Amino acid sequence: MLTQQIALVTGANRGLGKETAHQLAQKGFTVILTSRSEAGKEVAEAFRNLRLDVVFHQLDVADGQSIAEAADFVASEYGHLDVLINNAGIHYDTFQNTLDADMSIVEEALRVNTLGPWRLSKALLPMLRKSAGGRIVNVSSSSGSFKDSWPGTPAYSMSKAALNMLTVKMAADLKDTNILINSVGPGWTRTAMGGDKAPRSVEEGAASILWAALLPEGGPSGGFFRDGEVVSW
Ligand code: NAP
Repeated sequence: MLTQQIALVTGANRGLGKETAHQLAQKGFTVILTSRSEAGKEVAEAFRNLRLDVVFHQLDVADGQSIAEAADFVASEYGHLDVLINNAGIHYDTFQNTLDADMSIVEEALRVNTLGPWRLSKALLPMLRKSAGGRIVNVSSSSGSFKDSWPGTPAYSMSKAALNMLTVKMAADLKDTNILINSVGPGWTRTAMGGDKAPRSVEEGAASILWAALLPEGGPSGGFFRDGEVVSW
C-alpha cells in the first residue's frame, strides 16, 4: 500500500522555508506549511491553487504549547511524519558584538534557532519513528562554522554552532533508527535575512535543503552539507 509522504516546514510563510515547502510539494509530498503568524495561510492557499497538496498549521517554534499542538495535529491528521525541516530562523545580528550585545536578542536567537529545532524534533520523534525513513534537516549557516565564520553576528553564529552540535548529538542518539538528521547551509541567499546582494536564489538555497530531506536509506547522518557536499564544522 502506498503511504502518503508527509513533510513539515517551519517558518514557511516566506524566504527559504516557503520555497522548500514549494519544492517538497512539487516532489509529491503533502506539506504542512507552518508559520508563527497566520501569514502562512494565504501562502498555503496559493500553493493549493497550483494543485499542490499544502496545508497550513500555526507554529511558533519558541512556544512549547504551540509545538505540542503541532505534534498533536500531525498525529491526529496523518499518524506519521517523513520529513521535518527546521528552517525558522531569526536575528542575523550584524548590529552588535559580544561586548555590547543585547542579551534579550541573544536569548531569542538561541530560543528560536537552537532550542526550537530541539524541542520540535523531540515532540515529532514519535511521528518520525512511524515513517519508513524519517529525515530531519536543521537549516544552519556557515556563520555557525568554527572554520568559516566571520567577525560579528554573535547571537546568530552561536545559535547555529549550537544547532550543528544538536545535529551531531541527535544523530548519535538516533543511530539505531531509520531516521537521518543533518545540518544544511543553504548558502548566502536573497531573502529578507540574506538581503538583495546575496548571490543565491531561494530556489538554489531550497534545493540544498531538499537534498538532505530526500536522502536515501543508508545516507549520511550527523553531517553538515551545502548542495550535497560536506562543509566544514
Ligand atoms: P527570512 O526570510 O527572514 O525568514 C525567516 C523565517 O523564520 C520567517 O518565516 C519567520 O517568520 C520565521 N520565524 C522567525 N521566528 C520564528 C518563530 N519563533 N517560529 C516560527 N517561525 C519563525 O530568512 P531566510 O533567509 O528564509 O532564513 C531561513 C533559514 O535559513 C534560517 O534558519 C536562516 O538562519 C537560514 N539561513 C539563511 C541564509 C540566507 O542567506 N538567507 C544563509 C544561511 C542560513 P515571520 O515572517 O513571522 O518573521
